Amino acid sequence: MADDSNEIHEHVHGDEPHSHEAEPVAEQAELRAKALEYFKQAGQIAASIKKDAAGLVNPGESAFDIAETVEKMTRDGGAVPGFPCNVSINDIAAHYTPETKDSLLIGEKDVVKVDFGVSIQGCIADTAFTIDLSGEHGSLLEASAAALEDAVSSIRPGKTNGFIGGVIEKQIRSRGFKPIENLNSHMIEPFRLHAGIDVPSIATSDSYEFAEGDVFAIEPFATTGAGHVVDQPQVEIFSVVGEGRLRMRSSRELLNKLVTRYFTLPFAERWLVNDFNSRLTLSAALKELLNAGCLYPYPVLREAGHGMVAQFENTIIIEHDGAKVISGVAKP
Ligand code: MN
Ligand code: MN
Repeated sequence: MADDSNEIHEHVHGDEPHSHEAEPVAEQAELRAKALEYFKQAGQIAASIKKDAAGLVNPGESAFDIAETVEKMTRDGGAVPGFPCNVSINDIAAHYTPETKDSLLIGEKDVVKVDFGVSIQGCIADTAFTIDLSGEHGSLLEASAAALEDAVSSIRPGKTNGFIGGVIEKQIRSRGFKPIENLNSHMIEPFRLHAGIDVPSIATSDSYEFAEGDVFAIEPFATTGAGHVVDQPQVEIFSVVGEGRLRMRSSRELLNKLVTRYFTLPFAERWLVNDFNSRLTLSAALKELLNAGCLYPYPVLREAGHGMVAQFENTIIIEHDGAKVISGVAKP
């Protein structure tokens, strides 16, 4: 998923199960090495799913079936989805995941972005690709993929996130498109998909220096439109951010279930339908959790100028001499 929500993780930072700040240094290094192993395993599964998932995107196919199939492939691979599979079409840039009885079908000339996460012990490989069924947007897809490639080959310890933003911006603008300025690439920590450090999509003075062992998801969005996204009323993805005053018993039970099952990672309403007798009870409980401030919503994001949007994304581990891609190929 894209990071348009820098603030939310502050709420949960202290609760993170893999927070080992009090551990001795040697033990911390061992835990970090173990986490990096999980990230690599997750990356291998993501890479293999990505090869098969491209073939699922065809005119007339339902977005619901694509998302559910990618998530099933993830479980069959021995992992769990790190967040609901996003299937975002044309000027929808991100955060569209189908609802329970979603009727959305892929159109003949759609530009389809599939963005999914593979989680092993909360270590998530986050990756995305774009399929251009129109055959008319090849250069837009190339711009996103080239920006990703440039960013990855420029990242090494000591380089700043603001500098890499400039690398992304330059590549996309040189091809006549705009980077989406309010969607960022992001650091990943165990159980924290957006771990607080972002990589912008434009040159900035941001001065975080990449360090060996960091994990980042790099995801430049290229568009023919205005260069930024706006929230839509529709929300299908949420994550737990805290406790709240809850009147309904079903809401309290749902919150317990969400914390146990997903901790702070994003989830979709359609993942919960089998836990409730009626969809009405589920949506009422979700609504109460949202109003009580227990959930953070990820609204569907539309390009402000209704431009076409392409996105390629890979997860990388920073090594002493550069960045290593762990989630496979990201090319049109
Ligand atoms: Mn993603
Ligand atoms: Mn991401």
